[in-house]
Amino acid sequence: MVLTYKCSSSISEGSSSGSSNISSDTASDSSMYVCQSYQSTYAQYQQQEIPFRENSFIGDRPILDEYDFIVIGAGPGGCVVANRLSEQPNWSVLLLEAGQDESIYTDIPGAVLFLDGTSYNWGYTAEPAKNACFGYKDNRCPWPKGKGMGGSSIINAMIYTRGKKEDYDTIAALGNDGWSYDDVLPYFLKSENNSIPEYQNSPFHSQKGNLHVERVRYHSSYVDKFIEAGGELGLNKNIDYTVNPDNGVSRFQATTLNGHRVCILINSE
Ligand SMILES: Cc1cc2nc3c(=O)[nH]c(=O)nc-3n(C[C@H](O)[C@H](O)[C@H](O)COP(=O)(O)OP(=O)(O)OC[C@H]3O[C@@H](n4cnc5c(N)ncnc54)[C@H](O)[C@@H]3O)c2cc1C
Repeated sequence: MVLTYKCSSSISEGSSSGSSNISSDTASDSSMYVCQSYQSTYAQYQQQEIPFRENSFIGDRPILDEYDFIVIGAGPGGCVVANRLSEQPNWSVLLLEAGQDESIYTDIPGAVLFLDGTSYNWGYTAEPAKNACFGYKDNRCPWPKGKGMGGSSIINAMIYTRGKKEDYDTIAALGNDGWSYDDVLPYFLKSENNSIPEYQNSPFHSQKGNLHVERVRYHSSYVDKFIEAGGELGLNKNIDYTVNPDNGVSRFQATTLNGHRVCILINSE
């Protein structure tokens, strides 16, 4: 895979044809600085047509004529379904995705603002809003949705969060058996691998799943000041917002592993 990109029309002249895995014609001004800093770092690889990342999931495995299961869409939902099906060694599973493979860009958490302006985003716009989106043409806000291996989890903000207990219990009370908080908590625990030190013995977190959760490694002193300020305003400080999100302030829990974005895990055997 050769990665090409362009931060603006003036920079696009250097892009090689036929391999535009990222096109950022629509990159917003706010993402331009990020894009240009990546270009200055990785342009040498682009010029030498050095692949950034092997496709370790698909490799050179042949496409079969028939499959036991075909899963459409490699977002978190489709990947989990395909992963679980592929645990049965006798079953063949095909996972089809409309977008492209991830790249070094999607692995870097700080590139999140830049990715909205690339072909990793379907680029939808919302219907015209009456009382919002005044800064956009026809009051139509951008409506980002990921397109690629990992779906929206390759462009999302990587914040590990869950619904409120009361919300799940309300969903169950409305007649949806199996959706109470006590019902869904075991699945959160099954999927989670949380390495945050203070949660190692929490009954609300686990270390046995595929989804890695950690603190963002870069820690600005402003973060502490914001949390202190929240305390002065009467908010609870350093809460575990995945358990009790009300009236609190804390650093967020990130779905990253060693500082890299974690989006999908597929059993490739
Ligand atoms: C900008 C943004 C920020 C977000 N931030 C967070 C966050 O911080 N924390 C959080 O928990 N959640 C966040 N989310 C939400 C989270 O990413 C989604 O809830 C999650 O990705 C939904 O997973 P999904 O599998 O249901 O769908 P998607 O992730 O949308 O995946 C669907 C996949 O199907 C593919 N597809 C669609 N049609 C076809 C077709 N016909 N053929 C083949 N493939 C097809 C798409 O290309 C896509 O890859 C964010 C979402 C966005 C867009």
